[in-house]
Amino acid sequence: MAANKDMTVPLLDLKAQYESIREPVRKAIDEVCESQWFVMGPNVTELEERIAAYSESAHGIGVSSGTDALLVALMALEIGPDDAVITTPYTFFATGGTVARLGATPIYCDIDPGTFNLDPAAVSSLVENDCERVGGALVHKASGKVVKALLPVHLYGQTADMAALMKIAEDHDLRVVEDAAQSIGSEYIDGRRAGSIGDVGCFSFFPSKNLGAFGDGGMCTSNDDELAERIRVLRLHGGKPKYYHSLVGGNFRLDALQAAVLLVKLQYLDEWTASRQANAKSYDAAISAAGLDGKITAPPTRTGKRHIYNQFVIRAERRDELRQFLGDAGIGTEIYYPVPLHLQKCFAYLGYAEGDCPESERAAGETIALPIYPELMEKQIQYVVDKISAFYS
Ligand SMILES: *Cc1c(COP(=O)(O)O)cnc(C)c1O
Repeated sequence: MAANKDMTVPLLDLKAQYESIREPVRKAIDEVCESQWFVMGPNVTELEERIAAYSESAHGIGVSSGTDALLVALMALEIGPDDAVITTPYTFFATGGTVARLGATPIYCDIDPGTFNLDPAAVSSLVENDCERVGGALVHKASGKVVKALLPVHLYGQTADMAALMKIAEDHDLRVVEDAAQSIGSEYIDGRRAGSIGDVGCFSFFPSKNLGAFGDGGMCTSNDDELAERIRVLRLHGGKPKYYHSLVGGNFRLDALQAAVLLVKLQYLDEWTASRQANAKSYDAAISAAGLDGKITAPPTRTGKRHIYNQFVIRAERRDELRQFLGDAGIGTEIYYPVPLHLQKCFAYLGYAEGDCPESERAAGETIALPIYPELMEKQIQYVVDKISAFYS
């Protein structure tokens, strides 16, 4: 292995991306400054229309973050203290955190180890064995809460197995909120886009997402006119008309500056996605060529027709040592996520123990995210794979 002291590969290089769009972004920001219209307004409306179209949904409602998209979607579905929501523990904290913030009970079901996404078989088993029908409601026996919704996450850029999950939801009269924070533009095997399949889709424009703002931002999508209207009203403190409140909402507004930046970036999104997909292919080829197939496993694309690779996550033997080794070689990596939600301290009151979601726990111990950002160069990918080879040899 040739020593290569100059090579560094960050996990994400937003400066490289900004380099390519500096002029149009600055112009868009300047226009907002000249208009002095900073909250909501025409940029937000245009972004809502474009994201709705991009996500094949009738409605787009711009909100303050991906977390608030989840929160306001659950609020619009009237999820509260008597209710439970079935979700995955192998996700970013906001997925379970928003359920708990509404006083509702998150019920964690295990993931499919082949996709890292909520396993429909685990959800089925929970519904059949741990829940009962009381009147018209599906009651979770242990907690006594009414199961109102499923909250699958399209983790890393690949959709969850939505056909199977939607079938469970239909059979048991559950609503479905898609956490699509990492999956803008990704497609399920039948071609439907993330965010257009359940009742509400929730997107994040956090800077590290594939479509990242210059700060926080998010979006709800929906094909349900009534639900979309509730979300729109809840976003503005529940006032409609202004200052007349039949609902208690919050300030979940999106800023005009963020919308203006996102409108520019959206024009490049498909190009960036194609680069991420090409990078994933290069990794696959380099990993095979290096004979690493037994040591590390590249991410499968089973339920995704269009995987957008927000992250490129591999399973690796001796993961923590590998991470240290790569860090010493100037390669940025991250563990998404080291502690599954059912084992987080703040959820101890739910009574979960180690072993309750074994695949999520195993993934938390084995996975590591490698750099996959669009501007990544072939020689950097080769360098990463060379270093992984060096570690295992
Ligand atoms: C990023 C993310 C969120 C939260 O989005 P923010 O914009 O950071 O609030 C929610 N769920 C998942 C899966 C995410 O990756």
